[in-house]
Amino acid sequence: MANQEDNFKKVISHAKEYGYVFQSSEIYDGLSAVYDYGQNGVELKKNIRDYWWKAMVQLNDNIVGIDAAIFMHPTTWKASGHIDAFNDPLIDNKDSKKRYRADVLIEDYVAKIDAKIEKEVKKAEKRFGDSFNKKKFLETNQRVVEYQEQGKSILSRMARSLEKEDLADVKALIEELDIACPMSGSKNWTDVKQFNLMFGTKLGASAENAMDLYLRPETAQGIFLNFLNVQKSGRMKIPFGIAQTGKAFRNEIVARQFIFRMREFEQMEMQFFIQPGTQKEWYEHWKENRMRWHLSLGMGEDNYRFHDHEKLAHYADAAADIEFRFPFGFKELEGIHSRTDFDLGSHEKFSGKKLQYFDHETNRNYVPYVLETSIGLDRMFLAVFSNSLQEEELENGTTRTVLKLPAVLSPVKAAILPLVKKDGLPEIAKEVIDDLKWDFNVTYDEKDAVGRRYRRQDANGTPFCITVDHQTKEDQTVTIRHRDSMEQERVSISDLRRIISDAVDMRNWLKKI
Ligand code: ATP
Repeated sequence: MANQEDNFKKVISHAKEYGYVFQSSEIYDGLSAVYDYGQNGVELKKNIRDYWWKAMVQLNDNIVGIDAAIFMHPTTWKASGHIDAFNDPLIDNKDSKKRYRADVLIEDYVAKIDAKIEKEVKKAEKRFGDSFNKKKFLETNQRVVEYQEQGKSILSRMARSLEKEDLADVKALIEELDIACPMSGSKNWTDVKQFNLMFGTKLGASAENAMDLYLRPETAQGIFLNFLNVQKSGRMKIPFGIAQTGKAFRNEIVARQFIFRMREFEQMEMQFFIQPGTQKEWYEHWKENRMRWHLSLGMGEDNYRFHDHEKLAHYADAAADIEFRFPFGFKELEGIHSRTDFDLGSHEKFSGKKLQYFDHETNRNYVPYVLETSIGLDRMFLAVFSNSLQEEELENGTTRTVLKLPAVLSPVKAAILPLVKKDGLPEIAKEVIDDLKWDFNVTYDEKDAVGRRYRRQDANGTPFCITVDHQTKEDQTVTIRHRDSMEQERVSISDLRRIISDAVDMRNWLKKI
């Protein structure tokens, strides 16, 4: 646990030191759970967004993008259910005065049971070696079966109580499980209350005419409200999708996990409109497709898992999360939701406008069903960044800090380094930059010995260092050093563009989907 915390602290301080993520308003002591992206962070974030957009919009001829406004007519949030049901159950500890989400306290308790199961599996794996059958072990080992049942029964009781709005039972469950405040160890809890997560604001100049508005808590509603506009203007035929990326705002109760849970964040969502009755197959299709997108980045299959929801939101008939192994354990990275006709149906009711699709083949109108994929851009940033940050022991006994970002996402693709600051080498380096900068984000560095410059670029996540030396003047060749293997090779300047492009071109990464 201590190790996990240390690793997470390293991630946060590295993100600051290398210009990836800063606390918002830091000189005024910061604003809680709000963050700014620095010179490298903005590039990494943009590259992740582009990687998503390319895969979801440009590579699918039946998916198009939009960019809806953050402000929306307030009735939107009545129809979507956010005014009535976008609540988190919160509980305060009377001694530490810390506020928690009651469901998260219970889920964390179950995560500890899961960790015990994982420990038993590891032990058995060691004991049985190659003949170990994990599936059978999980089904037959008595202790593990008991743990699994315990976890399941806790989660389903919580789901039932939340569903029925029986908050007294949620508190009773916390007490029965003997859950203590993680900060103080105290078990002196208040009652559980509901807390609405939307930020309110006002539109209009004078107080009497002002209209109450909300900052959107998700981007999805902008897509639903534009369903007909896009369908008609784009002559879209079902099945088709509408995607968008943009800011969303939630007044999160617990926001102590860096950019994992922010009050202002960015989402990348796609709503796929389908014929009623086909939702099961599309649900499976998008679950698989989204997992393949994640795996295409090569961050390790073991770091992802699906988590099927026990408790379904008011709009869903099936839902699963793609969870990622963050520095603090497996947590939700993306949600895939089968939303039925809830959203369009509800907006029809509240607006009095028909939001239907006319199917020319069957000659009938219907309200389409919706399959949603929804991922937090900042959470994806944290997944990529934390997974890439590594301390490596080298053969000579020293260590290096290296940010092994997937090259396609790296903010800077290559650093061009003159071996020394004289003899015309900086001029040649700048010529190389002037050519490469049309295709890639590249940088120049002439300060310090070249070994130190390599380390700096390793820590920055730059996949290539290109060194211009005296031989360059003779034969137009340079040394190219690879971040991950640290191997160096001598190549011709005219080959640089191809070499970098092979490594960073989205085509070569997304082909794996
Ligand atoms: P959680 O259970 O973690 O609060 P959620 O189930 O409410 O998340 P959704 O409403 O499904 O999340 O939002 C879709 C995605 O948006 C999430 O998978 C996550 O990646 C991202 N997201 C949601 N809330 C935040 C937040 N406060 N900060 C950063 N990203 C967020």
